[in-house]
Amino acid sequence: MKICKTVFANLKKYRYNADMRFFLYFLTGTIIGSFINMMSSRLVLEKSLLKTRSECDKCNKKIIWYDLMPILSYLLLQGKCRYCKTKIPAYYPVVELLFGFIALWLFSHESITIQSMLKISFVALLSINSITDILVTNIYNKALYPLMVVALLLSIISGNIVYQLIQALILTVLIWVMAKGIGAFKQEKSLGEGDYYIFFCIGLLFSYEGLIRIIMISSLIGIMIALFIKRKSLPFVPLLQIGIMGAYLWS
Ligand SMILES: [Zn+2]
Repeated sequence: MKICKTVFANLKKYRYNADMRFFLYFLTGTIIGSFINMMSSRLVLEKSLLKTRSECDKCNKKIIWYDLMPILSYLLLQGKCRYCKTKIPAYYPVVELLFGFIALWLFSHESITIQSMLKISFVALLSINSITDILVTNIYNKALYPLMVVALLLSIISGNIVYQLIQALILTVLIWVMAKGIGAFKQEKSLGEGDYYIFFCIGLLFSYEGLIRIIMISSLIGIMIALFIKRKSLPFVPLLQIGIMGAYLWS
């Protein structure tokens, strides 16, 4: 009986520790999501990235700590600035929630290692590029260069840096030739310079099967969106990001 009690108590303790761990993973993800929102908004508004305190984009009032809680603050403030009542973009809590789940999934599968932290940094930096691409059809070097550094570090850790570098170069050249061909045919630029850097990064990180999956998923999603939204061109980085996340889950 005593043994049963001890086992039960240990199981309960284990369950509590596991729940707590999952909650902390989720919370970390939402904080990263909040950071992504702040960085992409500062890039688009051409504000300094080094400012420590967050401020309202409209009235420039400093935001108090309790208005900076991911998801919760948005709900409590009913999606408006406390001072000037300007609407906070609706994608803010979505990104925070999404990153909560991404961190929960990644850390519970791979635990907290240098590799998993680099992976989440890569997804976070890629998300900043995706958001700016959606908002203003622009990718900023300040978000692109750190993305490349993280991709290089991940590639070095994988131990296949030479192979991955050659693959990344071949992929970038192939995409460049294809984009130039399509561009000449349609008589317009089909890819921006930043898109090639992102192709280089994914060439560093994935196997060739993974790259085929990424291109397949991105193209399919792109075609589906193009059927519903009659826009002349679609932002390419978010499509690639969906492809990357899909290929990662697929593997
Ligand atoms: Zn305001």
